[in-house]
Amino acid sequence: MRGQWSLLLGPARLCLRLLLLLGYRRRCPPLLRGLVQRWRYGKVCLRSLLYNSFGGSDTAVDAAFEPIYWLVDNVIRWCGVGRNDMTTVSICKKCINPKPARTHHCSICNRCVLKMDHHCPWLNNCVGHYNHRYFFSFCFFMTLGCVYCSYGSWDLFREAYAAIETYHQTPPPTFSFRERVTHKSLVYLWFLCSSVALALGALTIWHAVLISRGETSIERHINKKERQRLQAKGRVFRNHYNYGCLDNWKVFLGVDTGRHWLTRVLLPSSHLPHGNGMSWDPPPWVTAHSASVMAV
Ligand SMILES: [Zn+2]
Ligand SMILES: [Zn+2]
Repeated sequence: MRGQWSLLLGPARLCLRLLLLLGYRRRCPPLLRGLVQRWRYGKVCLRSLLYNSFGGSDTAVDAAFEPIYWLVDNVIRWCGVGRNDMTTVSICKKCINPKPARTHHCSICNRCVLKMDHHCPWLNNCVGHYNHRYFFSFCFFMTLGCVYCSYGSWDLFREAYAAIETYHQTPPPTFSFRERVTHKSLVYLWFLCSSVALALGALTIWHAVLISRGETSIERHINKKERQRLQAKGRVFRNHYNYGCLDNWKVFLGVDTGRHWLTRVLLPSSHLPHGNGMSWDPPPWVTAHSASVMAV
């Protein structure tokens, strides 16, 4: 069977080579030349799908479904369903929906999230446009609370720790059961608070740095790659969502006037963030104030 195949394939290959050779000649008929060109183009397309070192079966399936995404997107627009002022950057290949700038698909929540920062396993939810401020406030005030507890209970912790060290001395100390439970609880409290203060403090500082730069956790990686790519070409990367450190914080916290630092930041507030998360026009006062920053 194998021999029969090779017998057939050999002449077929020979014919193809002859056709390709003829394709180089000018006297070759235009129809044949066109066929040869199409054959070569098809081969390049096929190779680009199968021989891409970054690609896999997912890439091939995505590429094969690309016309369907295009069709669905256009049909939606013709019907006027998705007609609005939204600046669409791409189409989400999982939801098959228009994807605005800064939006990313969360594979755990199985939906697109506006200005997605990350998926938080502790909250079992995504941190994005509408809850990023709450997430940061929670981390910040929780860290402050833990630092306060650790600092405030430092003397109690030292006394309790010293008392526990005497438990195995001879003669044994005459602590009651209640006193022993109190000692152990105090040590447990101090270690727990200090650990949370350190871990959550590091996370809060990291997010504060990102907010100061006008980036989300995901954009941090994207911008870093883009910065390196442009640097290699001798060009400078500019983050369009960076309005300057103070203005980034004001936009993030929703502070429009000086009074808002008290009513919206220090005190609990349920105000909505700037914008709808679809388009990213900065507030008017940012445009006027930080035009020089944006121009850098
Ligand atoms: Zn999606
Ligand atoms: Zn999620």
